[in-house]
Amino acid sequence: MLTHRSNTAFLLSGILLWLGIRFFYPVSAFFLLIPVLVWLALAVTGSFSVRWNYHLQARHENPASEHIALTFDDGPTPYTAEVLDLLKEHGQKATFFLIGRQVEKYPELVKRMLTEGHTVGNHTYSHARNTGFMNVRQMEEEIRAADRAIRAVISRKVKFYRPPYGVTNPSVKKAVQYTGHTVMGWSIRSLDTVIRQEEKILDRIFRRLKPGRVILLHDTSERSVNVLRELLDKLGEKALRSVSLDELFTIEAYEEI
Ligand SMILES: [Zn+2]
Repeated sequence: MLTHRSNTAFLLSGILLWLGIRFFYPVSAFFLLIPVLVWLALAVTGSFSVRWNYHLQARHENPASEHIALTFDDGPTPYTAEVLDLLKEHGQKATFFLIGRQVEKYPELVKRMLTEGHTVGNHTYSHARNTGFMNVRQMEEEIRAADRAIRAVISRKVKFYRPPYGVTNPSVKKAVQYTGHTVMGWSIRSLDTVIRQEEKILDRIFRRLKPGRVILLHDTSERSVNVLRELLDKLGEKALRSVSLDELFTIEAYEEI
């Protein structure tokens, strides 16, 4: 898998090659642009696609498992209660990646998640639009502040972290090294916040649905709740069980405090 380090090594090799050729032939500086543009294109794509493991190793699926894992980002919100009702009705478990600021608004919903057997993880304190441009110190503080908000409610320190927008970069990499979180990605992106038609979202999920996969949803709109309702029926038909990420990967979701 291509990483930021190997991509940069390719860039340096390209520059050295250009310098080497230029030593013997008057080659144009234009050719120097090629490795630079390739590096840039790969760096941008890698940063926006957590599944590439370009900057850091994240967990996206467990092909050895016979279960799947439903995950919900950006809550809690007033829609979270409906999501929890549906999960309870179908006896399915999920993982919620919480925004610290939202946790302070709806602490009862977070308590309910734990009482009903779900797992919670960290999704930064403010989910700021400029998350991808923060320096290491700011990034670390975003993660630690969310940890504190969650800990104030459930008296546990969470170990799972999911980067907002799936954006990773050297700052995120360093920050999670300092905080010691396990980075969680996904293998099915529902695009439930982007695609308007519920059928299209469901179709997208169903086409990719197989054991071991991690599905990314959001507990932030009625549309996502409707999608979940259909999805849970389908899981029932296929006898697929959704488990929390700690169960899917057999790892601890919380740290002793
Ligand atoms: Zn998010």
